[in-house]
Amino acid sequence: MASYGKSETESKAPILIVGAGGLGAPAALALARANCGPLLLVDPDPVELSNLPRQIIYGEADIGSAKAVAAARRLAKIARDLSVETAVARLDDRNASRYISRADFVIDATDDPAAKFLINDVCVELGRPFVYGGVLGLSGQAMTVMPGETACLRCLFETPPDIEETASCRDGGIIGPVVGAIGTLQASEAIRAAAGIRPTLAGKILTLDGSRAGRIRIAPIAARPGCACGAARAQLSAANAAH
Ligand SMILES: [Zn+2]
Repeated sequence: MASYGKSETESKAPILIVGAGGLGAPAALALARANCGPLLLVDPDPVELSNLPRQIIYGEADIGSAKAVAAARRLAKIARDLSVETAVARLDDRNASRYISRADFVIDATDDPAAKFLINDVCVELGRPFVYGGVLGLSGQAMTVMPGETACLRCLFETPPDIEETASCRDGGIIGPVVGAIGTLQASEAIRAAAGIRPTLAGKILTLDGSRAGRIRIAPIAARPGCACGAARAQLSAANAAH
């Protein structure tokens, strides 16, 4: 792990951004512009030429550098006092609890369904709020999960999609403006949480349909009875208490 800014003396829990690609790069930029941190960026991959059109935080000089490190270099120029810690690592079963337990809020900026469910399960287990983000073709989604209180990812989809389906989704391509908008929305959820304000998308899913001139829908998501996250039970007892 490497540190930029003041992280040695920083005691506040970081906002964890898992993935420094299409979603994570705009999310990190928006957080830096708001001077909201500290940040912890976790990503295993180097910057590639093909990333540059969508991952606007990187330039040609960054090709070959680890994304997390190149992103932190850029963020240091935007917000000099922002503490940014980096880990060149893939979030997996062995390290997820270690990273997530340190964070106050988690941004799921991955493009891999298995990683999304891992983030969901560990955040639910450790009681860390997180914002899910997903983009497929011209459509993007975001939802914030308050563990044990609002619907989790497994309330929405019981299991991750299978590998073939995932592969074809990736081949479907991702459009820059939609992914940029979803990443920026994820950052605004983190900014609200850091300020002690309830995130706008807690218990709600936002869908951005890029094929129809910026059409946005927001719909509440009910917790699924029987889901291990326990939010359905909590919602039921809150409703009973209100009567
Ligand atoms: Zn659930």
